[in-house]
Formats: sequence, structure tokens, C-alpha cells
Amino acid sequence: MPTKVLPSLQDVWKARKSILPFVSRTPLLLSAPLSHQTGASIYLKCEHLHPSGAFKWRGAVNSIAQLTKEQLKQGVTTYSTGNHGIAVSMAAAKFGTKAVICVSNHIPQAKMDFIRSLGAELKIVGSSQDEAESYCNHLRETDGLTIVPPFDHPAVISGQGTIALEILEELPDVNCVVAGLSGGGLLSGISLVMKSSNKEIRTIGVSMENGAVMHESLNCGHIMQLKEQPTFADSLLGGLGETNQYTFSLINKYLDRSILIPEQTIAKGMAYIYQNHHMIVEGAAGITVGAILDGFIKVKKGTNIVLILSGCNVDLKAHSLAIQPYLKESLIL
Ligand SMILES: *Cc1c(COP(=O)(O)O)cnc(C)c1O
Repeated sequence: MPTKVLPSLQDVWKARKSILPFVSRTPLLLSAPLSHQTGASIYLKCEHLHPSGAFKWRGAVNSIAQLTKEQLKQGVTTYSTGNHGIAVSMAAAKFGTKAVICVSNHIPQAKMDFIRSLGAELKIVGSSQDEAESYCNHLRETDGLTIVPPFDHPAVISGQGTIALEILEELPDVNCVVAGLSGGGLLSGISLVMKSSNKEIRTIGVSMENGAVMHESLNCGHIMQLKEQPTFADSLLGGLGETNQYTFSLINKYLDRSILIPEQTIAKGMAYIYQNHHMIVEGAAGITVGAILDGFIKVKKGTNIVLILSGCNVDLKAHSLAIQPYLKESLIL
């Protein structure tokens, strides 16, 4: 086995160049109500505004842009909790290659419908991301498809890291970035860029209480397997893969804190964004807002905090049910 080389800041700049024709910069909005409520300046990085509805568009485009003509001729495959599958389907269509997306039966209907509508082949295999991953390996052997991994690949990590370059350009005196943590591609990329630029910039990962594989693995010092359980933050489900090479090391090295968040706090964050900013975001994005609202992250007055609104692919009915209990109370001070 060749020794793995962790991606570098330079790889993120290269990713930025390669995705530029396909990936638009996303807005960084100052949330006046959240800032007013906390005394800090709280910004929302609107990664749910990509055409695929989530930041995974960056990593998927960067990965597929690196493939050879031969690989593109054969097609690509991936396993996904949904958003990466959507992004790969869309990127495959842009690059004129076919995509087979393998998902577990936990994926919400909205995400399955989205993948099918993009012309990709959807395969529902088993009840966990790890089972979907095994099936992808099988497709590589039998059909010669190239796997585009959802997080544990330098091209994916570098692609997601371009979010941090955009943040630094607009808000060079950022103090802390908060994002949902699952496989760790998102926070590996962001933390790598932030720590390479200024070690004082903090990065915090938030996950749901039940089934937070990276969080538990960090605590144990080795990769764990947990049963997937229903959560509002379904995009944060999934294991770290049996042969994790990059994200566990990078998160271990760079992430300052990992915090578990209860379900009602996730729903409250989604409700807050709906009520105050009139945007629909999924639980994996609302979780960052809830973490601030319910005091899981104590912010210092006068600091600059960025919350990553990572995606918006949620069943509208599920969204409406989740936020219902929190709409009546006045969330604006
Ligand atoms: C994938 C995803 C995450 C977590 O990203 P990882 O790279 O797996 O840690 C967070 N939010 C949304 C919306 C996602 O799709």
C-alpha cells in the first residue's frame, strides 16, 4: 500500500480553479436576529443554494473533473446518504458520463426522487451506508465504474475546502466556523484551510445524539460502527467506511470540538431559519443554528462566527412537521 498523503492547502486552491466554471460562490449572510440575540456577529454560509441543494456539489465536481477520458466513458458510482448522490448525478450529467447511485433504504423520498430526475440509476441496497458501499465495490469490479467516494478522498475534501477560501476572502477576521459533522469531508476541508491560514480560527463539528459515528470514533481513538437511527439530520447518518484513510486523521488533527445535539434543538434551528430568514434548510444545516440557540456553543461577544447552512434537501412535509412545535413562540427578540 502506498502511504497516504493528506490533502494540502494548495490542493484546495487547485480545486477552486478546477470547479470555478461549474460552482458559484455562495452568499455569506449576516443574521441580524442571531447576532442581536448573542452579541456576536453570526453569519450564515448559504451552501444550500447550490443547484444540487447542498455543498457536496463542490467535492463531486472536483472529483469528476479529475477523471480520465476512459473513466468517464465507463461511468461513475457512489454510495451516499443522499446529497452526495444528487451532486454526483448532476456532475456526471455535466461531464457526459453515466452514474449509478447506491443508497440505503433510510434515504428520504425527496432525495430519491431528485436522483432519479437527474437521469442517474438509483440502487437501493440494504439499511446502512456501509452496505451501499460494498455494493459500489461490486459495481467497480463487474462494470468498471469509478467510485466517487462521499468524503474520504483528497478530491472531495479539497472541493469542500473551497467553502473556507470563500469565507476567508469575505470575512478574514473570522473566529469560528460551525458545521454538521458526519463522514468529515466538509470539516476536514474547512479545518485544513482555516488552520493552515491561522491556528487561532476554531472549527466545531455538530452531530445528532444518536448515531454520531465520527464523534464516538474520536472519543474512542478508533473507527466505530454504530446503528443508524432516525433523525432530523438524516444527511449526517452513515459510517466512516472500513478503510478510512483521510477524514478520521484530518478531523483528529484539526477539529477543535465535536458536540452532540438533541433532536428538538435541530428542529428548533430549522424553525428559526424558516421564521427569521424565510429559508428552508434540512436538519444537518439547522443543527448549527440550534446549537447556538440552545447554548451548546457559547459564543463570545464581539466575535465573528460562521454557521454552515449545508443543505436544503428535505421533504417539505417532514420540514413542516419538524418545525411546527417551534413556530408559535416568538423567536425574534
Ligand atoms: C454530507 C453532509 C454533511 C456532512 O458532511 P461530511 O463531509 O459527511 O461530514 C452536512 N450537511 C449536509 C447537508 C450534508 O449533505
